[in-house]
Amino acid sequence: MKRVVIKVGSHVLTQDGSLAYDRIKNLCSLIAKAMDRYELLLVSSGAVAAGWTKLPLDRRLLANKQALAAVGQPYLISVYQACFDRYEIVVSQLLLGADDFDSRRRTEHARDAVETLLKHKVLPIINENDVTTTEELIFGDNDQLSAHVAYYFDADMLIILSDIDGYYDKDPRVHSDAKILKRVHNIEKEKLELECLPNGEFATGGIVTKLKAANFLLERGKPMFMASGFDLSDVESFLLEDKHKGGTLFEPR
Ligand code: ADP
Repeated sequence: MKRVVIKVGSHVLTQDGSLAYDRIKNLCSLIAKAMDRYELLLVSSGAVAAGWTKLPLDRRLLANKQALAAVGQPYLISVYQACFDRYEIVVSQLLLGADDFDSRRRTEHARDAVETLLKHKVLPIINENDVTTTEELIFGDNDQLSAHVAYYFDADMLIILSDIDGYYDKDPRVHSDAKILKRVHNIEKEKLELECLPNGEFATGGIVTKLKAANFLLERGKPMFMASGFDLSDVESFLLEDKHKGGTLFEPR
């Protein structure tokens, strides 16, 4: 069975500062279907937004943000578990940081746990450990975390579900003539050095972190597919019908 990591961003998971329950439901339904064909791991943002629905603190302060993540992470997992109950899928939580991929021994321990979970058809739900990680040790965005998860946990592919339906030749929110790129084989160095401009209160990524994730995998011979997390039809065709209708495939040559 092929192994796939799906990463879903905060824009997809949240709406007006709260969790976007309908979108989470649709995502769970897609994952449940895909689990018949693939071993799946989910990298999910959304802990801070989930926390905010319970405790509306000012999330611009780091200590508040970490407190919100601490409140929100278990709540987010409980929302996922409730969703997956109807498919009789058990979920699990792995909180990882950059240091977990630093040492071979730590990575092996995490990998053994993942292998055991997958063998038993449990869905690992992964997030960065926002509460305790110190600044030097953070990825800071789940795009790059998910690329490490895909590479170190031996996935065949990473799928990033975003608020945009693919990678364009220029920012489609600024340029109305931007064109979607269906296949990308390499990413120019200067594109990776652009400033990260996250596009909302909860987002910490932007397109640059997605390109960095794609580049990390391309350099290691693995593909990444980027598609809309609002409308799941492109990712569904790609995963379940082997049809590349919409979305961008970053593919090693
Ligand atoms: P997420 O919350 O899913 O991680 P972000 O909102 O952080 O996603 O990043 C995606 C956004 O990046 C898009 O909504 C778009 O506004 C912006 N963007 C900038 N340049 C591009 C580009 N060339 N192609 C696609 N999106 C781009």
